[in-house]
This record gives sequence, structure tokens and C-alpha cells, in this order.
Amino acid sequence: MNITAKYCKNCDQILHADKNHCASCYSKELKTKELNGSGEVYSYTKIHAAPKDYADIAPYYIVLVDLNEGLRITGRYTGQSVEIDQKVQVEAVNKNAYIFKPVEE
Ligand SMILES: [Zn+2]
Repeated sequence: MNITAKYCKNCDQILHADKNHCASCYSKELKTKELNGSGEVYSYTKIHAAPKDYADIAPYYIVLVDLNEGLRITGRYTGQSVEIDQKVQVEAVNKNAYIFKPVEE
């Protein structure tokens, strides 16, 4: 699914949707941009001791993902196992948290 981000009209940097100025050039000339939500796992961690709301799904993975369009975001991962460079896709956004699923190659 698509996710909403921003980009800088001055230098084309892709930014998180909650940013109000560009992290590279400090311009405030930002525009909304839809990203396709696909990317590769840059890093991950396995959560065993989960917060109460997530205790019933533990253990699960939190992944740091480099989106193909140039933004690094974190989210929960729904697959059973994960590797660095695993291809993933955003399948949902729940309470402002991204949920990724594995993509078979
Ligand atoms: Zn900029």
C-alpha cells in the first residue's frame, strides 16, 4: 500500500510526513508525496518482552527498512523470519505505525 511522505521542493530530499522543514537544506518548501511502500530490510530486532498491547503476538520483529524511493522507516514485520536485504512491503498503517509483510522474489 502507499504511504504518505514529504519531499523538499528545493533539494528533492524525501522526508517523513511529520517534518516541517527539510533535514538537508532547512527549506520549509515541502510538498506531500505518496511512496509505494516497498523496500529492503536494513536492520531488524526481535521483540520478546513486548508492551502489554502486543504481548499476545510476541515474539515479533521490528524492522528498519530502506524504502526504494529513498526514506528509512521502522515498522513491525509480520513474517516468521527475516534477513538483512529481505524485500518487504507496507501492508497496513496502524496508529501511525507501519506494518510490513515479506515480499517473495
Ligand atoms: Zn531540502
